[in-house]
Amino acid sequence: TQQLLLNSEKLTIAGQLAAGIAHEVRNPLTAIKGFLQLMEAQMDNKTYFTIIHSEMERIEIILSELLLLAKPQDIKFEKENLKALIDNVKTLIDTQAILNNIQVEIVNYCDDLTIRCDKNQLKQVFINLLKNAIEAMNKGGIITIEIKEYGLDKVKIYIKDTGNGVPKQILNRIGEPFFTTKESGTGLGIMISKKIIENHNGKFHFWSDGNGTMIEVILPIS
Ligand code: ADP
Ligand code: MG
Repeated sequence: TQQLLLNSEKLTIAGQLAAGIAHEVRNPLTAIKGFLQLMEAQMDNKTYFTIIHSEMERIEIILSELLLLAKPQDIKFEKENLKALIDNVKTLIDTQAILNNIQVEIVNYCDDLTIRCDKNQLKQVFINLLKNAIEAMNKGGIITIEIKEYGLDKVKIYIKDTGNGVPKQILNRIGEPFFTTKESGTGLGIMISKKIIENHNGKFHFWSDGNGTMIEVILPIS
């Protein structure tokens, strides 16, 4: 237990450090971007700017993911309707899903479940998970989101996809910081999602095989 506590403390400190660095790096980055635009406007040959822009964008994606590890005191917990939150995420992701021939279905709505959460962080979790599902289904398919009351004071949210799944030999590496199988992945999505769920006194489980992937998120109901 002592070692476990020590490990989780280390992770918290590392997370805060990462978020702090991300925050500090963002300001100079914004300045560089501004001057880059001025430079671009004055140059006739713009060959390298496409590359610079896409690399800058990549830095920004990594920073915004790391910022989600921010200190607990920056997190604002409020009562939110779970159905509304999930509906909202579905709306955000639907265009991308349709473009990829993917249907997102929500089953077994529990209409009036309220949870205490930081709305933006929790949305980010579901966006991360749904994006991963979409990215795992290059031939299209179905994503199912299931909401189930669990015991007296908890809710289980399942996200299932019919995608490629994860090969057994790398399954235990999923959620390791920077572990990705994608050419332009960050390998931060799952780690941060897990961390956010744990900050909400919840639990996160990940199963995957050749038939697809299932994620279970357990959260306390308020
Ligand atoms: P990224 O998406 O940037 O690679 P994540 O932390 O979100 O980083 O995911 C880490 C890895 O886990 C992915 O590269 C992928 O191999 C695997 N993974 C996550 N979700 C799924 C899923 N729904 N189906 C198949 N593989 C997945
Ligand atoms: Mg991801």
